[in-house]
This record gives sequence, C-alpha cells and structure tokens, in this order.
Amino acid sequence: MNKPVSKKCPCGGGKYAKCCEPFHTGTKLPRTPEELMRSRYSAYARGLTEYVRSSWHPSTLPEGLTLEDNPEWLQLQIIATGSHGNRGYVHFKAYFQVDDDIGVMEEQSHFVREQGRWYYLEGEVVDA
Ligand SMILES: [Zn+2]
Repeated sequence: MNKPVSKKCPCGGGKYAKCCEPFHTGTKLPRTPEELMRSRYSAYARGLTEYVRSSWHPSTLPEGLTLEDNPEWLQLQIIATGSHGNRGYVHFKAYFQVDDDIGVMEEQSHFVREQGRWYYLEGEVVDA
C-alpha cells in the first residue's frame, strides 16, 4: 500500500504531483497570485529555498534568505484573493508549529506580474 499522506501537497490543493510540484520543477508557471502563493507556501513547507527565492521579486528579495529557522508549516488557508491587470493579492492564514506551540500567521501578500510571470512583492501582517 502506498502512503497517500506523503503525496499530498502541503498547500492542501490535492496531490503534490498535480498541484504545486509542476511549479517547483519549472514545468508550469503559476497563472494567478493564488497559485503562486500556494506554491510558495508548499516550497516553505518542503524547504525549497531556491523556489522561494526565484518567485520573490528581485526588488524586495531579502539578502541571504534562508529557510533554516523555518517552523513546521501545518496548513494554509486562503481567505481572499484577486488580481487587476498585473497586480494581485492574496489574504491568507498559515498555521505552523514550533516545538509544542501552534501559531498562525495572517498576511495580505501583494504580487506583481512581469513578462507574464507572477512574483511575490511584499506582505503586510494582519493583526487578529
Ligand atoms: Zn499545492
């Protein structure tokens, strides 16, 4: 028997192979801010530093980005998303675990499309 759990995409969108994996391997480009957001979340969850970097707009990419202190990501919840021309946003909650504590990060992320490709630009933390 296969273990179906390990084949699930971290973003909650179904099978990894049909969800965020094609974005991570470069087979497909995300068509919407939500797809990019999901693929970035999954990249964080799987420790794919290169993908997190390459999907970040160069103008706001932190120097020396590393996922070393990354918590364990448990679940992504998309609250709202939309786009207008080459600008888009995703409002989401991301649940994570550090030691025995579960936390939640709520953020409004902004995305920009350049030459047909979406990038993460910046995000504002939403206070609960
Ligand atoms: Zn996914």
